[in-house]
Amino acid sequence: MKLIVLGPQGSGKGTQAELLANHFRIPHIDAGRMLRDESSKNTIRGKKIKARIEKGELIHDEIMLYLLKNRLKKQDCRKGFVLDGFPRTLNQAKQFHVQNSLDKVVFLHISDSIAVKRLSQRLQCENCGTIYGVEIKPKKNRVCDKCGGLLFQRIDDTPRVIKKRLMIYHKQVKPIIDFYTAKRLLVDFDGSKDVAFIFKKILYSLRK
Ligand code: AMP
Repeated sequence: MKLIVLGPQGSGKGTQAELLANHFRIPHIDAGRMLRDESSKNTIRGKKIKARIEKGELIHDEIMLYLLKNRLKKQDCRKGFVLDGFPRTLNQAKQFHVQNSLDKVVFLHISDSIAVKRLSQRLQCENCGTIYGVEIKPKKNRVCDKCGGLLFQRIDDTPRVIKKRLMIYHKQVKPIIDFYTAKRLLVDFDGSKDVAFIFKKILYSLRK
């Protein structure tokens, strides 16, 4: 199963991507996390990536596509993958489409007001990256259920910065949504609904 999960920050795309990856026993490839791992390497490329992430700028398409191509060559992707955080530009979508086939592109839509509310309450594990929020709360305050790591709030998860990120997101995602709609790959879900309900709906749409 080869899937892409698209949606604004706070739409629950990371959670659904993780559920899908576990269900189909395929890797959940989070583009942002992949880039952060690369940026921690003491290489010229790692340093360039780090500088762009810190400025909140997208990594150049060629680097992103190159890293992703290498990741997808790994043994664990032979049965498929769930991509999260990719593509972020129409060019990435087009270039990726030339070399890869996809089963579906899952799109989760939510209103900006819900996104702001959810993101302002979001906490992430500094160790394994697991995200907690309004719906999924950790059992122990600020401690990750999975690995015991500390939970932190991202500095870009404040209402003012979130609104700016959402504005940029809308501008970038529209042509990508249009691209996948034209390819008849897009399945669209209401991300404001309950996690389990959305997951069931997604699985159903993948059976067709
Ligand atoms: P995220 O964890 O999705 O918020 O991504 C963190 C940062 O990684 C972004 O601000 C970008 O600098 C970079 N990034 C993530 N995904 C992509 C992508 N598909 N293309 C280019 N840059 C990306």
